[in-house]
Amino acid sequence: MARYELVKRSVALITLTNPPVNALSSAVRHAIAKSMECALSDPKVTAVVICGENGSFCGGADIREFAGPLKGPPLVPLLDAIEAGEKPVVAAIEGVALGGGFELALVCHYRIAHSKARLGLPEVTLGILPAAGGTQRLPRLIGISAALELITTGRHISAQEALKLGIVDQVTEQNACEVAVEFALRAVAKPLLSRRVSMPCKPREIRSAAVMGIKRECLHGHEQDLGMVPSLGTMGRGIAVCLARVGISVIAVESENKLLETGRQMVIGMLERDAKRRGVSASLNLLKFTISLQDLKDVNLVIEAVFEDMALKKRVFQELSKVCRPATLFCTNTSGLDVDALAGVTDRPHLVVGMHFFSPAHVMKLLEVVCGPRSSSETIATAMSLGKRMGKVRVAVGNCPGFVGNRMLKPYIDQATFLLEEGDFGFAMGVFRMSDLAGLDVGWRVWKESGLTGSDVDPENPPRRRQGRRYCPIPDMVCEKGRFGQKTGRGWYMYDKRGGTNAKPDPLIQILLETYRSKYGIQPHNISNQEIIERCLFALANEGFRILEDGIAARPEDIDVIYLFGYGFPRHRGGPMFYASMVGLERVLERLEHYHQAHPDVPHLKPSPLLKKLVACGSPPVQKWREHIKTMHSHL
Ligand code: NAD
Repeated sequence: MARYELVKRSVALITLTNPPVNALSSAVRHAIAKSMECALSDPKVTAVVICGENGSFCGGADIREFAGPLKGPPLVPLLDAIEAGEKPVVAAIEGVALGGGFELALVCHYRIAHSKARLGLPEVTLGILPAAGGTQRLPRLIGISAALELITTGRHISAQEALKLGIVDQVTEQNACEVAVEFALRAVAKPLLSRRVSMPCKPREIRSAAVMGIKRECLHGHEQDLGMVPSLGTMGRGIAVCLARVGISVIAVESENKLLETGRQMVIGMLERDAKRRGVSASLNLLKFTISLQDLKDVNLVIEAVFEDMALKKRVFQELSKVCRPATLFCTNTSGLDVDALAGVTDRPHLVVGMHFFSPAHVMKLLEVVCGPRSSSETIATAMSLGKRMGKVRVAVGNCPGFVGNRMLKPYIDQATFLLEEGDFGFAMGVFRMSDLAGLDVGWRVWKESGLTGSDVDPENPPRRRQGRRYCPIPDMVCEKGRFGQKTGRGWYMYDKRGGTNAKPDPLIQILLETYRSKYGIQPHNISNQEIIERCLFALANEGFRILEDGIAARPEDIDVIYLFGYGFPRHRGGPMFYASMVGLERVLERLEHYHQAHPDVPHLKPSPLLKKLVACGSPPVQKWREHIKTMHSHL
């Protein structure tokens, strides 16, 4: 009732053989269960393809069996096991995938359909519901309204419509089984988590947590003489406050006693002020402070918020692996480092996830939950649910440098600094105030790590270009002068004191700019407000389109939520992606093409393929973009 063979040396091909439509009789279910068992236990097998004999995938349950008692393995646990398996399973759909056959395809991690195939859930026409997961998996795959329509009408759809709805990953004119085998080979290295449509993701309850890094110390090395004042808003402190105020007991960890003591006073002060404002009593009894990692042996979850330094973070996670219980979840608050590289140094990569808070963490609503390729669904669900308990607006994002928010910031800030280099419009741009607030040293450290600046780089060879593209060294020059923004009282602006918020233009920056421009023979010219807005905001949205193509964000709406809640994007504009749609995608494309032509050495201005595709499809509204994003490599 199913044939099992090994093809291309490593793909298990399971062919259903129950003519005429390969219905899921007890014998077929039994054969599928046995074949899957073989495929999953055989180390030679790296992927599985399920297809049907005689040009038909599967017509569904064997209705002749409905009358009698259930014989053979029940369908639901069998389907759940296929989905949960650790090897990618691809459905090769020819002819029909109906009812239980469609539900079988839904548990496969990928679906390839022949162009003549038809799919559907016709159960309703027999007076029953798709009871083998169809009512659960289909809405998760294509949204509630589209799924409801298919389930309640029992309508059969073509392969082309299935592709448009996001049900199948590819439609082919060729032999679907052969295409599926090739597809399966390519899918081997890809993470399966996001391909499991039902994602059984019960979050854990978190009762205790540890936060690492609560007191900003004086900056290291030559920066130390700046005598930096600890600024409110350092991440660990804010996170500790967020946890304690929702009743989670917190152990706050610092690297040395002196820092711990100052950190303790600050956290207690913040919690007391917060409780007073809310008219409740401060939950100080939930807090413990320590410099010993041994004290973390019993916590449910750790949130690491030490310096943005990969080597340090790796050391911390290695230590934590030795100290904490095997089930403890490890979260990192990194602003953009590779979450999977951190997971890789632990003894539990599936329990590692990014929890990217925004500064000040006890005030800002946004939380990016960064799903590493090895983060388990339980881990992601727990981070999402903990964020909810902390009152955050949570967005699940994929793992790439900068994730969503900070990755989009790069082209935006680049444009702002290029405009500063070229033009003469004063300091009217929000991005400089924002950078002063966040700390200019943060970006400087990232650029140094990525080899864009630092002692190993010759700034004049060639000047104003790095790694084959335009580079503006002015932000480095500002940092080299010890101007790190509000915290040092000087940055792009000058402030009344260290940690002050009252920004004034600084004549020294003006002099720095003039000297720089005359050194490189740059003639400043007037730049219109329109050009400033277009270059900054269209570059921002353009990166958003790339993020959607790359599968780092699931929806344009998620990107907008990130920018509204984490980056102060004006609410009435709806976020960068909605703003782009309001301006008109055609116009955005035309302007980006124009600016890219004028600045060919700035790749971020090159219109993304998705933007071009959307314009070619008549610029659909934001809600419809998802239908045009077909990515095999979702990172979520
Ligand atoms: P910070 O310099 O204010 O704080 C880091 C703290 O870590 C310091 O108090 C330091 O003493 C402590 N620390 C260093 N090594 C430690 C160890 N081994 N054990 C315990 N504590 C240790 O930095 P920050 O701005 O709070 O950033 C912390 C993390 O949060 C970074 O990864 C950063 O990228 C990220 N982040 C920062 C912001 C922001 O706006 N500042 C926003 C989001 C995320």
